[in-house]
Amino acid sequence: KQLPADSDTSNTRRQVFGAAFSYVTPRVPSHPKLLHVTAEVAEFIGLSNEDVSSTEFLELVSGSKVYPETQPYAMAYAGHQFGNWAGQLGDGRAINLFEVLHNNQRWALQLKGAGETPYSRNADGLAVLRSSIREHLCSEAMFHLGVPTTRSLSLVSTGDKVLRDILYNGNPAYEDGAVVCRVAPSFIRFGNFELLAARKDIVNLLALADYTINYFYPEIKATGKEKYLAFYQEVVNRTVDMIVEWQRVGFVHGVMNTDNMSILGLTIDYGPYGWLEDYNPDWTPNTTDAEGKRYRFRNQPDIALWNLIQLGNALYPLIEDVPAMEAILNSYSHRFDAKFPVMMQEKLGLASEYDTDFQDELTTLLTASETDMTIFYRNLANVLKSDTIEIALSKIEYAFYQPDALVATLKTSWMNWMERYLQKLNDESLSDADRKAKMNLVNPKYVLRNYMAQLAIEAAEKEDYSLINELHELLKHPYDEQPENEKWFAKRPDWARNKVGCSM
Ligand code: AMP
Ligand code: MG
Ligand code: MG
Repeated sequence: KQLPADSDTSNTRRQVFGAAFSYVTPRVPSHPKLLHVTAEVAEFIGLSNEDVSSTEFLELVSGSKVYPETQPYAMAYAGHQFGNWAGQLGDGRAINLFEVLHNNQRWALQLKGAGETPYSRNADGLAVLRSSIREHLCSEAMFHLGVPTTRSLSLVSTGDKVLRDILYNGNPAYEDGAVVCRVAPSFIRFGNFELLAARKDIVNLLALADYTINYFYPEIKATGKEKYLAFYQEVVNRTVDMIVEWQRVGFVHGVMNTDNMSILGLTIDYGPYGWLEDYNPDWTPNTTDAEGKRYRFRNQPDIALWNLIQLGNALYPLIEDVPAMEAILNSYSHRFDAKFPVMMQEKLGLASEYDTDFQDELTTLLTASETDMTIFYRNLANVLKSDTIEIALSKIEYAFYQPDALVATLKTSWMNWMERYLQKLNDESLSDADRKAKMNLVNPKYVLRNYMAQLAIEAAEKEDYSLINELHELLKHPYDEQPENEKWFAKRPDWARNKVGCSM
């Protein structure tokens, strides 16, 4: 059941055929330093506090030493980038160390930024500190928000400089290098299947599908084409569920290329991601996507489906049943249409039927008033059934970036909307306190706003890592009231307007 390895074990860039992965050697960093460890992740892979403070741990998660009797590898995959076939991509700066079996759970450890692999193409295989901090913090924040995601065990600075930009005066701008150790049951993506299918390597496509099902979808017992249909159906289901969660918390991935779609339905590859602050369904954090805005917030459900169609094309040789595969693709919309409205109603604290007109009006108003999504939903829970329209509006007023939100024409629209909302609340049987408690379980109080990551990055660049730890702790309990952390329940400051993070 094992997968075919590339016979060449050098890290040299090349096209790799007839293999699912290549053995590689991580790059040895000059002065590795452990900046942060996620204790909880360490624990579930079986490491104690003492273990993670050891030299061996730093050697392991920095790529300095290969753990005895293990063979690190980079995976071969392809993908559609921004809707176009991109051919072989692969783990260009990710190196899988090994898998851990602990408490009957399988965990793969993967270094991101540990040097070149056969799949590095024209890039360096490295990662800079700022993007590594963003990945380390955001993957953990997402987990605690209840969104399926890869995890981050550790953040290490390498002591080496990485070139990412040439300044206007022609001088190179060097940045600090870093390595994150990601953890997930598997990092297999849609793109792994696409690569083998595109090359008509059906033997290995079959081997990859069987491997994935055997280890990660063991509940699938069917045989023959039914087995691969069941697998495809389950990937569709998990992808829908992940996307509904993204829409719930206001997460915009930014690079939903098929090589960034996990076969396990996990959020993977924290690059230029961002969080909706002023509510704008057309917003994307990806500056290279500025024109087409393919990966804008409101497109995410459609793009996920588009990506699943590509996965279907890749799996087709194993199934060869168009009607059955189309039925699975159609189930995407059915599942989404069943889950999304419920989720949106829950955000409003309503048990009644989804009211399209009422929700659409809210979207229009949130956008027109440049409303902070997180603050709006969180504060909406403070509205009481007995509130007047004015009082209810005063409770959400803080969420507006637009100072004129409650004057002029917008005020009338908001008053109308709030009147309907109060009516709906009064039609429900739940008490104000119970509704608030329920709403607070789906509307986070704290998310990793771009400016927060930015502050942690700027401090870290001055060798102050305390904010990384502070935010990490804060975001472990995103739904809780944390009076000592009220300062993070705030609108994005003006200086951070239109600023986005960067993945490189
Ligand atoms: P991404 O847009 O991050 O999903 O990356 C697309 C492809 O480029 C993947 O094959 C990555 O492994 C590769 N890649 C991204 N950054 C680097 C880098 N600094 N060095 C080598 N490969 C990279
Ligand atoms: Mg990627
Ligand atoms: Mg990336």
